[in-house]
Amino acid sequence: MRKISANYIFPVSGMPLKNGIIVLDSNNIITDIIDTRGNLKEIANLEYYNGVIVPGFVNTHCHLELSHLKGKLQEQKGLPNFISQVNSRRKADLDIIYKEIQHSHDEMVRNGIVAVGDICNTSDSFTIKTSEEITYYSFVEIFGLDAKEAKKNIQTGKRLSQLISKKFPHPHSLIPHAPYSVSPELFKQLIPFFESSVVSIHNQESKAEKEMFKSRKGSLYNSLSNFVDLSDWNPEQRNSLQYSLDYLQNSKQILLVHNTYTGPEDLEIAASLLNKIYWILCPNANLYIENQLPDLKLLQENKLNIALGTDSLASNSRLSILEEIKTLSFHFPEIKLEELIKWGTLNGAKALNFSNHLGSLEVGKKPGINLISMLDLENMKIKKESVVKKLA
Ligand SMILES: [Zn+2]
Repeated sequence: MRKISANYIFPVSGMPLKNGIIVLDSNNIITDIIDTRGNLKEIANLEYYNGVIVPGFVNTHCHLELSHLKGKLQEQKGLPNFISQVNSRRKADLDIIYKEIQHSHDEMVRNGIVAVGDICNTSDSFTIKTSEEITYYSFVEIFGLDAKEAKKNIQTGKRLSQLISKKFPHPHSLIPHAPYSVSPELFKQLIPFFESSVVSIHNQESKAEKEMFKSRKGSLYNSLSNFVDLSDWNPEQRNSLQYSLDYLQNSKQILLVHNTYTGPEDLEIAASLLNKIYWILCPNANLYIENQLPDLKLLQENKLNIALGTDSLASNSRLSILEEIKTLSFHFPEIKLEELIKWGTLNGAKALNFSNHLGSLEVGKKPGINLISMLDLENMKIKKESVVKKLA
């Protein structure tokens, strides 16, 4: 049994507890949470830390299989250029790919991440997914703009999905990559797979996506035209989010990833599905690729479910939810730390369906215990030098 305390405990499911105590059994399951009302007395075997104790972090959007692209792609060139860079540089020796996936996994463990929603186009990351250190949810991603290839695209995804079920059992679903990379025909054929499942899709990551749907032109349209003949591409919807949501309505949960250019008109489009939509923000990747951040004020004012992701090392220098929280905190100082921690823990756990055992400090859960130290406790603000240490 361990008894752990710090200046503050953030249970996330309830109010912060000054000098609260967490009691863990030998399996790191929480057996008690004691509210000392700030009045900590001498207790035998108490571990006391300076800082704030929070649950293990949840990274709702990652691409482990792109880890070997760390530092290789040019920054701030915009999404269309980024996609071309990934396509031309992602091939590498399998042993390098495996080694970098292992590094990324180890880095996330060190950074107090306990669950990850990870995108897969290949089986490269499957072995690591059965690790006990991190609970993984694999999103087997499908794309294809050539309607004639739709069946084949789905077969590829189904094969990967069957491989997971057979040899690397962990939660997974088939998902569409992005509105601009999935043809109406492919989307239509995917609908049965979305039924009651957790679906993630890249959403409004660049201005060019809006332009492509509105007017069938722009840099994304041009860039994709280099790979595929778009002369027949003409979806009925003139808004990319409308297009995605028309096909995703029956999913259990919808994770919209990035939302960098989401505006008030998009929230109206999503209005009837808001209770099952999670707005996933990957601020460091947004700055890396587009040098732009989502309209957080808009998302917050509308009380949306926000969760956080790191995206891959192709567009980020670290896989750390604390670093994503820092970026949001510096750009939007009005957001309370408590709220940011909730996005990085409980909301992510809910998005991935893991909240029965992860995401908050509650009796019976085994959420992982993180200590954030070197913060401004007086104003309860994260600082540049703040660090996370995994305590359990
Ligand atoms: Zn992504």
